[in-house]
Amino acid sequence: MKIGFLGLGHMGAPMAANLVKAGHDVLAFDPVPAAQEQARTDGATVVPTAVEAVAGREVVITMLPNGKLVLDVYADILPAAEPDTLFIDCSTIDVADARTAAERAVAAGHRALDAPVSGGVAGAAAGTLTFMVGGAEADFAAGLPVLEVMGGKVVHCGGAGVGQAAKICNNMLLGVSMVALSEALVLGEKLGLSHQSFYDVVSTASGQSWSLTTYCPVPGPVPTSPANNDYKPGFATALMTKDLGLAANALQANGVDGQLGALAAEIYTRFNQTDAARDFSAIVTDIRDRSNQEASE
Ligand code: NAD
Repeated sequence: MKIGFLGLGHMGAPMAANLVKAGHDVLAFDPVPAAQEQARTDGATVVPTAVEAVAGREVVITMLPNGKLVLDVYADILPAAEPDTLFIDCSTIDVADARTAAERAVAAGHRALDAPVSGGVAGAAAGTLTFMVGGAEADFAAGLPVLEVMGGKVVHCGGAGVGQAAKICNNMLLGVSMVALSEALVLGEKLGLSHQSFYDVVSTASGQSWSLTTYCPVPGPVPTSPANNDYKPGFATALMTKDLGLAANALQANGVDGQLGALAAEIYTRFNQTDAARDFSAIVTDIRDRSNQEASE
């Protein structure tokens, strides 16, 4: 297919490279020279402007840092695309922004999907991302062959914006669960419970969670977790903070009494000021440090 790809960062670059590898004709744009160079090396045709990347394309994919940028870029590119182009935004953005982007695409005579991902840079490189897709059934069917090149699992979640809804609901739950688990681990430490004993009991008891059994935030029990690698991400605190901010906005905008989601957003916003580049599971070290400070005061 003729594909335009905008946003060749950590995620976009390997996603675009997989489309090229699968035989698609990819016109790519990113304002950063190093990103352009990488895309050229990966076999995409790099063009100097966003508008040139959408001309004559059947599908246009965006992978950008935030919702404001998606809306700004759409303002430039929607009028430049052929009628009935399928716009797929894979960025993680506000549900409201995703709905606005889709409405504007449709009003300009196009089709639109929101298709945020989970799986991180490793999943993007391996072509094993999970896509959570919002949009009309027919548009989902049209986008599926392209998404399947970049993803291992593609789920149609509902209408416009519902893909973003799935993403922020999952990540809000993950953030809350990691904070809760970390508090329990530090409490266990204070009470003389070893990490291994905690793991051996809780991993098969009612407190079990993905955060514990796959991503254990203390070294030892799960050797592949970032805690065993000095909290190198993995999933960086900066990204978790962004997603919890989107979830907190959505809680408020929709009148949901989401006290734990809002609190997790606050906790990560504070941690992000000092530890943005560390894995989000390093929150356990912050909870431990703050507990020790309080104890010594
Ligand atoms: P990134 O900052 O590495 O990449 C964003 C790219 O967009 C940059 O290369 C930037 O130059 C480019 N860009 C900026 N303005 C542009 C414009 N006007 N036109 C074209 N390109 C432009 O970010 P990333 O880590 O690749 O993340 C992209 C999106 O994916 C974000 O919304 C993020 O939340 C989401 N996401 C990231 C991860 C991850 O692990 N990195 C995981 C899941 C979802």
